[in-house]
Amino acid sequence: MNAYERRLGRYVAQQWRPLVVALICSVGVTAITGATAYLLEKVIRSMDMRDAQQLNVVSLTVIALFALKWFFSYGQVYYLAKAGQRLTARLREDLFAHLQRLPIGFFQSRQVGAIQSVLTHDVPTLQSAVLLVRDTLDAPLRIVAFTVYIFILNWKLALLSVVCLPLIALLIQRLGRQVHRIAHQTQGALANVSALVQEALAGIRVVKTFATEDRQIARFIERNQQVLSHSLRGERRRARLRPTVEFIGAVSIALVLWSGGQLVARGEMEVGQLLSFLFLLHQIAQSASGIGTIQLTRKQVSASAERIFREVLDVTPEEYDPPDAVELPPARGRIQMERVSFRYPTGEQAVRDVSFEIEPGEVIALVGHSGAGKSTLVDLLLRFYSPQSGRILVDGVDIQQVRLSSLRSQISVVPQQTVLFVGTIAENIAYGAPNATMEEVIQAAKQAHAHEFIERLPDGYHTLVGDYGVRLSGGESQRIAIARALLRNPRILVLDEATSALDPIAERAIQQVIEEGRGVRTTLIIAHRWTTVQCADRILVMERGQLVEQGTHAELLACNGVYANLYRAVLLEEEIPDPV
Ligand code: ADP
Repeated sequence: MNAYERRLGRYVAQQWRPLVVALICSVGVTAITGATAYLLEKVIRSMDMRDAQQLNVVSLTVIALFALKWFFSYGQVYYLAKAGQRLTARLREDLFAHLQRLPIGFFQSRQVGAIQSVLTHDVPTLQSAVLLVRDTLDAPLRIVAFTVYIFILNWKLALLSVVCLPLIALLIQRLGRQVHRIAHQTQGALANVSALVQEALAGIRVVKTFATEDRQIARFIERNQQVLSHSLRGERRRARLRPTVEFIGAVSIALVLWSGGQLVARGEMEVGQLLSFLFLLHQIAQSASGIGTIQLTRKQVSASAERIFREVLDVTPEEYDPPDAVELPPARGRIQMERVSFRYPTGEQAVRDVSFEIEPGEVIALVGHSGAGKSTLVDLLLRFYSPQSGRILVDGVDIQQVRLSSLRSQISVVPQQTVLFVGTIAENIAYGAPNATMEEVIQAAKQAHAHEFIERLPDGYHTLVGDYGVRLSGGESQRIAIARALLRNPRILVLDEATSALDPIAERAIQQVIEEGRGVRTTLIIAHRWTTVQCADRILVMERGQLVEQGTHAELLACNGVYANLYRAVLLEEEIPDPV
């Protein structure tokens, strides 16, 4: 057992109750199957001896036994499934909870698709983990019990069968493996096809712009034909499997009948014993083929468990608060950075030795070329990442020392791109303040200039948005995001301005939010437009991770540095361009 299997074992062990019930039921089924063989012998004997009395008793016993078997069979299937289902439900919960607590960096370095595949593909596979437990305990038990039984019935015939059986089992196992290998190849080819479909659909604009539809179709056909040929190869093997097994079965039955028939003729065995012998042999063969698949199932389960642990559960969650973490008191909004430097895990030095102070109520614009480190600076303030050196203080308290939730609850961010969750508009606005009253929600929407358009929607504030709801324009979504941010009444507001203008009302909303907030809350804007930059009390200019200049628009123009260059370069344009 490797380390991942052992850890999976702990999840399995949690479900010991239904597993034990299922196993007890399995033993019951085995016992009744053995009893059936015994009764078969008795029936034939009573027929042989024309004993009507015994025939009646035996037949009634068969009915009673099978009624009992009904319960055991039910329990065997249901409780095993219950253990499996509960195990995966538990695992899904653990995975989701863990994912929610992982740091932002995790999601940037991984594709969401890969994470989803762990949840939708690997988790269900682990249901088979409980099958493994059953098969490793149950099948050997049956094999041993029935083998002992056939030896009691007739040891000579048993010896002959026991020599043949492993050969048959081996053959079946080999065939099964071939089928499995091909199924695996087919799956790989199928994954190739889905990847292509996903890429082609996501990039449909690019495909159309470059008029490469035909090339995409040709690529698709090529890969699809691969899937087809793998599948057909697999189907041929699969189709061969059953008749082969049947043929081998028939040959061995004929063999046993032939030698058993001679024993019967010589009076060394009864007809009933021979029949019950064959019945048991069939049961043994079935259990043996079950054991053959254990290795395969184990490989699949083990691979899925490894992916689940390695890709998700073993990733260290977002730093927990230090044991002596304090609650950040309701902030006034002073932000200080002291010689802060930060390097991404990829090695990118995004912030170098940055120091500044922002007074409560100030409106600050962060400007600089794309890649200068503005967003990183904000992410550091939100403690999405921690600086390698230097300190960040809010109201004089080092943010590393405070409880994360108390820090983030006092900072609201209006991101460049708004995420609307499935739910109503009101729920979306109240996302960060679920206890807000409807009046407060409306008030926030009014401040964000969103009230009018919401009122015009079919169900007003109760209109559904998200995947299945109404589609809002970029500007409308942004105004929802502003309302969401304002409803929390934050002491620090971060506006990550969209690089291109969304709509004039959203622009006006932002201007007004900035003006109304002046002196009340600290506003930090990652600014992309000169109109916004000009209404800032102070401008911080970033270049290659460093804070190179700070001051008012007029001061910075006068000192004729990076800012003045930026400004002059785009004197007549609205946006601050990316470096070419
Ligand atoms: P800005 O917001 O000014 O455009 P960023 O803070 O996004 O700049 O980026 C600063 C630098 O850090 C850039 O060189 C960028 O490539 C790098 N960077 C940003 N995010 C990551 C990340 N998640 N991992 C690695 N490097 C990053």
